Amino acid sequence: MSRSRVPQTLSREMVISGRGLHGNQPCEVRLVPVDRPMGLTFVHMTSGVEIPVRASYVGDIQLATTLVKDGVRLQTIEHLLSALMGLEVEHLRIEVRGEGLDTELPILDGSAAPWVEAILRAGVQGLDGTRRFIKVTKPVEVRQGEKWIRVSPFDGFRIRYTIDFPIPALGRQSRELSLTPEKYRREVGQARTFCLEQEIDYMRSKGLALGGSLDNAVVYGANGPLNDGLRYEDEAVRHKMLDLVGDLALLGAPLMGLVEVHAGGHALHVALCQALLADVRAWAWVEAEEVAPRAKAFFQPLQPAYA
Ligand SMILES: [Zn+2]
Repeated sequence: MSRSRVPQTLSREMVISGRGLHGNQPCEVRLVPVDRPMGLTFVHMTSGVEIPVRASYVGDIQLATTLVKDGVRLQTIEHLLSALMGLEVEHLRIEVRGEGLDTELPILDGSAAPWVEAILRAGVQGLDGTRRFIKVTKPVEVRQGEKWIRVSPFDGFRIRYTIDFPIPALGRQSRELSLTPEKYRREVGQARTFCLEQEIDYMRSKGLALGGSLDNAVVYGANGPLNDGLRYEDEAVRHKMLDLVGDLALLGAPLMGLVEVHAGGHALHVALCQALLADVRAWAWVEAEEVAPRAKAFFQPLQPAYA
């Protein structure tokens, strides 16, 4: 495995702006480096409310992961969190500027790629101290009907994800990956969010997906995607892996374990975080000295990996 042994933050500030997928409201996100390991914290700038990235602050999780504290709601945080956790930037102040108390992060192109590129442009730097992992020591499983998620002991961070949709254009997709920052960037981070064409009228009637378009989501019709091509043949399951990496940030530290998911989504991902944290016999803190040293630095100059 080649995971960083020191806690990491960004080398300099980075600002990204855009509109939310569901509310279509403008939002500016400023990624601000910190000077000591303190985890990931959102700051809602209009109100001054600070929300640490923790499972205990999760509000609703119907279509996106939302953090709630002191009247503030931050929606659709999972793609940014995925990019940060995927690239092992686990200590950062994330300032969010949007109208009102209910703020949705920019959807950008529907994947984590624009966040990944911003992080790589900013650069990553190590902080004093030792990187700590949540190491799984016994399996924990959550079932919701036919859907299930399980985490078990593994010396690294590995995901095995399966989705099974009852439309031929999407169908069953399965992928397994041991994640490193480079693999995350190449194989997961570029996968876009997706929906079924038949869901769109219903979502719009509920005031959702108002900012959605073929520029920020893959839409599957009866005969296949309506977009001009896919970034990966199995882009949908890779996006589920992207969401999972982001949702696991709610553990508050990187995970050492194997996560297997069947037909998952945000609700199941968050339920696993809560179940794992609640079972103190199922995990232990380990420090990076106890982990095999990484072979070499992964942050070399990078070209965007997609057109
Ligand atoms: Zn997503």
